[in-house]
Amino acid sequence: MRCECGKNAIEKIGNRYYCKECYSKRYLSLVERSIRRYGILKRGERVLAAVSGGKDSVAMIAALKELEDKLGIKVEALHINLGIGEYSRKSEEVCRELCDNLGIPLHVVNLSEYGFTISDVRKKACSVCGNAKRYIMNRFAREQGFDVVATGHCAEDVVANVLKNLYSGNFEWSEKLLPRIEGYFKFVSKAKPLYEIGEKENLLFVLSRRLIFLPDECPKAPDQKWKELVYVIEKRIPGFKKGVLRSLVRREKVEGELKSCKICGEPTSTEVCQFCRNVKKFGKVRKIPL
Ligand code: SF4
Ligand code: ZN
Repeated sequence: MRCECGKNAIEKIGNRYYCKECYSKRYLSLVERSIRRYGILKRGERVLAAVSGGKDSVAMIAALKELEDKLGIKVEALHINLGIGEYSRKSEEVCRELCDNLGIPLHVVNLSEYGFTISDVRKKACSVCGNAKRYIMNRFAREQGFDVVATGHCAEDVVANVLKNLYSGNFEWSEKLLPRIEGYFKFVSKAKPLYEIGEKENLLFVLSRRLIFLPDECPKAPDQKWKELVYVIEKRIPGFKKGVLRSLVRREKVEGELKSCKICGEPTSTEVCQFCRNVKKFGKVRKIPL
């Protein structure tokens, strides 16, 4: 099939076929739109993008580099070598080549500088690893004067975490799943530029642009049952992912901006509460004591 521009198509989205170039353009405009919609990155910010070498972080950093001028940001990359044998060696190599090709300054921190590696961790490696990555990203960004740390979490990562947290009753985590978390105390702001973008879209962008990436899975990766569940639900309820992502943001807004209703004084997120608006709309006799 052919793209509207006449070139060979690589993908069909909705009723339209896309060639590599038109797909890449569409991808970049989706990333830009979601960054602007949620205020994920702000003009003038120095962004430290965490890159592992996997498709998602590779897509993120390449997209941010292309959008640098439009968004008014400056992007540099951070790779953390976790010391997971051959996997970490290859990841670092990929990140070096990628950043070299894209002209992005790359910083590399070895977890071994802190006296251990993830290979030393026998149980709950991902939890130790996640903690180490967050610690190093935050500390490095703060000490080097970056405004925000960007990570390559994609839509499925966020929704899978929502389901997992719901299942385990872990509610403090929900605010960490937002597209942007403002910095406080010694924490630098955190951003997820691919919040609304799916992992398949990331892969297609990486392939369209012929970017180097590491297809290997981390040998310590747990099984992907939560992510698989997201795909199952999305198939049954199209739009499920987007619904969950948007409701996370809406919930935060509602909780964050409560005030007293101008008419009755009861709590509301708007000037006049919904109940008073209903009274005004449907009420025949005004009975509420104001
Ligand atoms: Fe770290 Fe686990 Fe990810 Fe491997 S799968 S990089 S151990 S968090
Ligand atoms: Zn085209």
